[in-house]
Amino acid sequence: MYDIKAVYEPSDIRDAIRLLLEHPAAKIIAGGSDVLIHIREGRMAGCELVSIHGLDELRGVSMDEDGTLRIGSLTSFRHITEDPLIRQHIAVLGEAVDLVGGPQIRAIGTIGGNTCNGVTSADSASTLMAWDARIQIDGPEGRRIIPIQDFYLGPGKVDLRPGELQTAILIPEESYEGYAGHYIKYGMRSAMEIATIGCSVNVRLSEDRSHLRDLRIAFGVAGPVPGRAPLTEQRFRGARLTDSLTDKIGSSVLSDVHPRDSWRAARDFREHICSVLARRAFRAAVCGTAEDGSLARFQNS
Ligand SMILES: Cc1cc2nc3c(=O)[nH]c(=O)nc-3n(C[C@H](O)[C@H](O)[C@H](O)COP(=O)(O)OP(=O)(O)OC[C@H]3O[C@@H](n4cnc5c(N)ncnc54)[C@H](O)[C@@H]3O)c2cc1C
Repeated sequence: MYDIKAVYEPSDIRDAIRLLLEHPAAKIIAGGSDVLIHIREGRMAGCELVSIHGLDELRGVSMDEDGTLRIGSLTSFRHITEDPLIRQHIAVLGEAVDLVGGPQIRAIGTIGGNTCNGVTSADSASTLMAWDARIQIDGPEGRRIIPIQDFYLGPGKVDLRPGELQTAILIPEESYEGYAGHYIKYGMRSAMEIATIGCSVNVRLSEDRSHLRDLRIAFGVAGPVPGRAPLTEQRFRGARLTDSLTDKIGSSVLSDVHPRDSWRAARDFREHICSVLARRAFRAAVCGTAEDGSLARFQNS
């Protein structure tokens, strides 16, 4: 049933890089919630695995001296949702990953696996995009840190070179300080379901909460890889918070998204959902900037 040739267990990151170079056909396994299914289905017959599961140095959430939030790649979804730093600074990420699968998957699935599988529907990905996350990668040439947008090369394909592994996801202080965010996953049912469309919106308002100082919108499943809505973001940065702004943002995202037909949903339907989710997530994000969650600052236009 599980046709595995060998499992290598590195003692630390350096040892993992060595094993990946020595066994170039080997695949990294973290929580295994994707990999083990592929193996069970016979899609990886006779595979070799490098199990990073025992590398505790890759687990947990911390804050660097400069305020950067550091999420180890082996951190489970459940850990992220419950983590005090995540709750305090980027609660929406904890909420987004709390929508993954069911409790068992959230206990074993890792944020590293969720981004390294390169899947557009990954529930952490659009929220990480909206927070301008950076991906830390360690390999034979040392460490490199790249924007998450550059990490995604195509469906199921990420920027990991031979011998490399993702070691952390970083969110700089300037990306989250003063922002509030909201993620909505639209699926055909509310648990154990892959997103038909996911939408994550971050906003930063002017001090008097009358203007939109910054706007970041990201989608999952609205294209071959998770992505931002740059035209809409540019169009509405600095805009006055009016009631009609919400609808304008909802219409505008249609110029940014490129969903496709699949057995799950037709392209037209996905476009409609993109528009609805952008509106709702934007409004909820604006509410999130107020201590009482009020919408009072939306003015009649
Ligand atoms: C029943 C079920 C329901 C699910 N529902 C959802 C859902 O609702 N939303 C969702 O987003 N996902 C869902 N998933 C998918 C899955 O749980 C996630 O993608 C999970 O985050 C993968 O993490 P993992 O640690 O289990 O990865 P693994 O299976 O161990 O690895 C996944 C991939 O990432 C690579 N990899 C893992 N870690 C690293 C690393 N540190 N560096 C380099 N490469 C690495 C592996 O080589 C592999 O290619 C579901 C899965 C199942 C089985």
